[in-house]
Amino acid sequence: MDMNAVWQDIVWSVEALCRDVAPELAQWPLYVVRGSTLPEGLSGGRGCWGFTAPNLDIFLRPSLGDAWQGRGMAIVLNDRLIELDDGPFSIFQLAAGIAIHELAHVLTENRPDQLRRAQQSPREWRQLADVGARIAATPWIEEADENGAALCHGAAFMRVAIHLRTRAWRVAGVCLVWDLLALSGDARLPSAFLDALGSEPLDWIDRSLTELLDRPLPPGFAGKMNSVLAKESKMGITNLLESIAKRLHARQLDHARSYGEIVRQVADGEEPEITVLEELLRSAQKTSEDLARDVGIVHRRRELHACIERGAAAQRQKRVLEQKQQTALAIFESARKACAETIDPIQEELRSLDQLQRDATAARQELLKTCNDPRLLEEMGGVMAKIRSLSHRREELAEAIQRHSETASSHRRAAEKNAHPDVDGLRKQQLMTAADAEKSRAQKSEQVDEIDRQLRALHGTEGALRLSMLEP
Ligand SMILES: [Zn+2]
Repeated sequence: MDMNAVWQDIVWSVEALCRDVAPELAQWPLYVVRGSTLPEGLSGGRGCWGFTAPNLDIFLRPSLGDAWQGRGMAIVLNDRLIELDDGPFSIFQLAAGIAIHELAHVLTENRPDQLRRAQQSPREWRQLADVGARIAATPWIEEADENGAALCHGAAFMRVAIHLRTRAWRVAGVCLVWDLLALSGDARLPSAFLDALGSEPLDWIDRSLTELLDRPLPPGFAGKMNSVLAKESKMGITNLLESIAKRLHARQLDHARSYGEIVRQVADGEEPEITVLEELLRSAQKTSEDLARDVGIVHRRRELHACIERGAAAQRQKRVLEQKQQTALAIFESARKACAETIDPIQEELRSLDQLQRDATAARQELLKTCNDPRLLEEMGGVMAKIRSLSHRREELAEAIQRHSETASSHRRAAEKNAHPDVDGLRKQQLMTAADAEKSRAQKSEQVDEIDRQLRALHGTEGALRLSMLEP
């Protein structure tokens, strides 16, 4: 199918329909333009079926070329979007519905009789072009007044739209799709509005809509409109705000997560790309001081975590050592028991043997004390007296030997010092004294030896006597 030819026919039909339903605009040119024929960015934003705007005709003039007939009304149809629609309506139905919607805007807001004449300077044209481009590129947005009522699709707009729809049917035999006309998703609305408007569309069918707009709205219509639109608008804005808040929250979480990763990266000693870091700090609303502090916190937390791990390791090690200790104590305890079992009877026996020895000593003492053999006692007394006397004598001799030894050695030392011929006499005398002392010591040593011999014999006798005294 040659879509170009189809669209040419549709544009012509739509223009004719607009003329039929708004004859009071007959004196003005009407430009119905397909968005696809306009430069990129001027063909209608995403989701924008079509649009009109004050001075749109001026903005479109370069694209219109020879078709320009002076200032007038202009409507852009987003033909690409219309073609993509896979709903139940024909392309003409969609295009007509959108064009009549925009015509309602023209009548209520952008009437050509209120336009300034085309005497704009190039600068004004550029300003107008900017405004037009903005409108063209912006998806359809419903603005609301403080009551929540839509501003550009309010009661006045809706009143004119209903009139135009009635006329389209009555005058041109075209049944317009209400949803496109009113931009309402609620199919019950038209009848409610039509009821509120009463017979006005039919009563006014031959008269000028610009005059109609100077007359007050039928009672009840505005209230009905506003309450419905306020509800829709408020719900729409509430949903929009909720969605925005959710997305913002999700983005903040993303930023916080990315920031946390950078903090850990820096804490690991890695140096992030400076532009990445800068961007991240900005989006997470953090400063370099925040980063330094948070890196410090990560370090501290890692230390604390390591501390917990060391604690757990210590606990495990402690359990092992406690187990070892318990095993060792058990071994020692059994060894102690085994030791006691062996040692205790031995010690008991040793103690009884000690006792027997002590008894024997006491018995010996008592036997010696109680011996009453006069011969033995007298003999023992004599031996003991001799031993005492000889021992005494021996002590005296030992002292004398000591004295002689000292005298001999001191004189010999003195004689060695006096080796000079001048003192030879003294030296000789000293040597003589030393020799005398040595001689006396030798004599007394012989006496001591003799006494020792006698004492040994006496001790032998004493031992024999004691044995005899022990006899019962
Ligand atoms: Zn609109």
